[in-house]
Amino acid sequence: MMFADLHLHTNFSDGTYTPEQLTAEAKRFGFSAVALTDHDSVEGCPRMAVACEQAGIEFIPAAELTAELNGHELHLLGYFVDIHNPRLLKEIGKFQAVRQDRIREMVARLNQLNVPLEAEAVFAIANCRSPGRPHVGRALVQAGLCVNLDEAFDRFLKKNRPAWVPKFKISAMEAIELIHQAGGLAVMAHPGLNRTDDVIPELVSAGLDGLECFHSKHSSSTSDHYLRLAEHHDLLVTGGSDCHGLNKGKPLIGSIKLPYDYVRQLKASLSELPATTATPQARSPSALSAPRTPP
Ligand code: AMP
Ligand code: ZN
Ligand code: FE
Ligand code: FE
Repeated sequence: MMFADLHLHTNFSDGTYTPEQLTAEAKRFGFSAVALTDHDSVEGCPRMAVACEQAGIEFIPAAELTAELNGHELHLLGYFVDIHNPRLLKEIGKFQAVRQDRIREMVARLNQLNVPLEAEAVFAIANCRSPGRPHVGRALVQAGLCVNLDEAFDRFLKKNRPAWVPKFKISAMEAIELIHQAGGLAVMAHPGLNRTDDVIPELVSAGLDGLECFHSKHSSSTSDHYLRLAEHHDLLVTGGSDCHGLNKGKPLIGSIKLPYDYVRQLKASLSELPATTATPQARSPSALSAPRTPP
C-alpha cells in the first residue's frame, strides 16, 4: 500500500522540524507522498521539495491559509499552488507582516501583566516570517515564565485569555479564489475542529474542492461524518496528521496514513482545471526554485 500525509508543518511556521528533518521522518514511516502546509507560508517548500526528491518521496507544495466566514475562523489548505504566484506571495506577505505586529502586541499585553518577555526573544525562537502563538509560548517557557506550553496557552494565549490577539484573516471566499488563481485546490482543513458545518455549503458554492476528512484530531466517527459530507457535496477527500514536530515526546506524523488513491484523485481533478488557472509547468517540482538559506 502507498500512503500520504497531506498536512505537515516545519519551522518555516510553528513546527519544530526543518524541512529535511520532516522529510527524514516521512521516509522513516514509509510515506510515498507528503504535502507541506505551513501556516500562511510557502517558504519551506523549495527545501522540502529537494529533500523529498532525494528521499524518493513525491512532494506537493501547499499552504494552510487562515480565513474566516461568518465570524468563524477556518483554515484552508491550498494544494499544488504555484509557490511563485505573485498574488499568492503578495497576500502571504501581508499575513506575515500582520503576524509579526501581532507578536509585538501579544508581548505588550504580557508586559502590562508584568510578564517581562521581549518581542526579540520571540522572534529569535520563531526565526521565520510567519510567527505565531506557539512561538510566544516557547519563549515564555524558555524564559522560565511558564513551566510548559500548556500553561502558556491556558494562562495567556488561548482565545479570550489576556495576551490573546486576533489574527488577520482573509474571507474564506477570497482564500479559495486566491488558491485557485495560483493553480491550486482549496480544501477545508480539520472541519471537525470547527464549531459548525453550516459554512460548508457556502464554501462549496464559492468553489471549495475538498474536505480534510482524516486528521489526527478526528475520531473515526468524525472522519466518517465528513466522508459522507464530501460524497454529498461531490468534494475531494484529503487527510493528514497536522504534525508540528514532537508532541509530548512523539511526532504526530505516522498517525494518519492516507491511501495514495486520494492523491491520484487530487491530481486528476487538477488536470481538469481550466488551463488559464495554472500551467502544468507551474506545478511541477522542477518549477520550485533552488533552496534558500535557512530562515
Ligand atoms: P496562531 O496561528 O498564532 O493563532 O497559533 C495557532 C497554533 O497554535 C495552532 O496551529 C497550534 O499549533 C497551536 N495551538 C493552539 N492551541 C494550542 C494549545 N492549547 N496548546 C498548544 N498549542 C496550541
Ligand atoms: Zn500550527
Ligand atoms: Fe489548522
Ligand atoms: Fe495545521
